[in-house]
Amino acid sequence: MTEHDEFREYCRRWLAENRPAPPSFRLPLSPIEVMTEEQRRYLCAWEKKCYDAGLIGCDYPKEYGGGGHSGFQQIASQEMGRAQVPYMINVIGLSMAAPTILNHGTEEQKRRFIAPLLSADEIWCQGFSEPNAGSDLANAQASAVRDGDNWVINGHKVWTSLAHFASWMIMVTRTSNDHKYNGLTYFIVPIANTKGVTVRPLIKITGETGFNEVLFEDVVVPDSYRVDDIGKGWTVAMTTLLYERGAAEGAGSGGGISLDERVAQLIDLAKRCRRDGKPAWDDPIIRDRVAGLAIRVEGMRQVHRRSRVEALTDHPMRLPLQAKVTVSELMQDIAAAALEIEGPASSLYVGDPGAPDNGQWPLAYLNSYGFTIAAGSNEIQRNILGERVLGLAKSK
Ligand SMILES: Cc1cc2nc3c(=O)[nH]c(=O)nc-3n(C[C@H](O)[C@H](O)[C@H](O)COP(=O)(O)OP(=O)(O)OC[C@H]3O[C@@H](n4cnc5c(N)ncnc54)[C@H](O)[C@@H]3O)c2cc1C
Repeated sequence: MTEHDEFREYCRRWLAENRPAPPSFRLPLSPIEVMTEEQRRYLCAWEKKCYDAGLIGCDYPKEYGGGGHSGFQQIASQEMGRAQVPYMINVIGLSMAAPTILNHGTEEQKRRFIAPLLSADEIWCQGFSEPNAGSDLANAQASAVRDGDNWVINGHKVWTSLAHFASWMIMVTRTSNDHKYNGLTYFIVPIANTKGVTVRPLIKITGETGFNEVLFEDVVVPDSYRVDDIGKGWTVAMTTLLYERGAAEGAGSGGGISLDERVAQLIDLAKRCRRDGKPAWDDPIIRDRVAGLAIRVEGMRQVHRRSRVEALTDHPMRLPLQAKVTVSELMQDIAAAALEIEGPASSLYVGDPGAPDNGQWPLAYLNSYGFTIAAGSNEIQRNILGERVLGLAKSK
């Protein structure tokens, strides 16, 4: 048995023995919709437990709080997904901030920030988008002006998931107006109880919050919180986006509901809902639709396996880069199929006593649009695939 096989067995056993009791309150569908203090506490305690057990930060160097292994994180994340345990709340820290700091941070930053991030003692958020800089991130206008050993930050970030719980933000700022890309600099910014920082929740179509706008008014940040060189912010941000879009493995993820489980839930729903006096599952059109989704899930699994074999891909980034598009659209199509199966009952939402499955499917459907936009819209992702992978002409 290899050490990887042994670790997989350990993960399975540990997860079976330590699965947390379901909370008495509803958990949102994803970590970026966590709204209440009791949800935060439950999920932080779970992430810390997973970290203490060695399932988070497995491949990170020991001196920064990691496990010091190689190839363990993917196994731990797979097993958490398979066990369908709760997800990791510090998703932005684990998937984006940690790898960015590891790749571009100073030794001092790595020692200060990575361990409490892995254990969810400190939650992170991402301050990239602004009212006029979303797809065109390089148009970021939040300014950082040098003042001796400090920087003074002013500006407005928006759609900032988890900012209401976050201690730290990874932030793209403008330090020069002379160059679009080379005028950007990347910072780590303390945002909890910081003078000049205002975090305001934004309410989504689902009725949930989870993301915010964050305003900065003369916020003072030491130069030691700058990540990489002045004017290198675009390069650092590209590292963050590579991890955010799933093209590279961060410090941990996993948990939540897998695509397989989603399809299994759909079949179960179709057996319980009635259509023309019979179970919806008896309708060949419904069965055909569910079968199509199951085939796509299997396709995703095979693509994932294939992406690990270099010789089977024409371009090293093609399969990882397309994953964000295919997964978000598949989740949306699964939720849409559930609404079709529920029929008129799909108009009953979370909190309605007669809603099938407590209204989770209309909620999932509304939420699914956010995932086709977050981490860069699918249109932009298709442009990247077209231009950088297929070598097509630039869109503009
Ligand atoms: C659920 C959710 C969570 C988020 N969390 C965060 C977060 O934590 N931190 C953060 O910084 N941001 C976050 N975002 C913001 C997200 O990154 C942006 O919404 C996204 O990059 C799109 O930017 P925008 O909203 O400004 O839309 P715009 O850039 O204004 O785009 C509007 C529309 O035009 C299309 N479009 C724009 N340019 C092109 C082009 N060149 N070619 C083709 N189509 C184009 C887009 O695809 C989109 O459909 C989150 C968004 C969502 C939905």
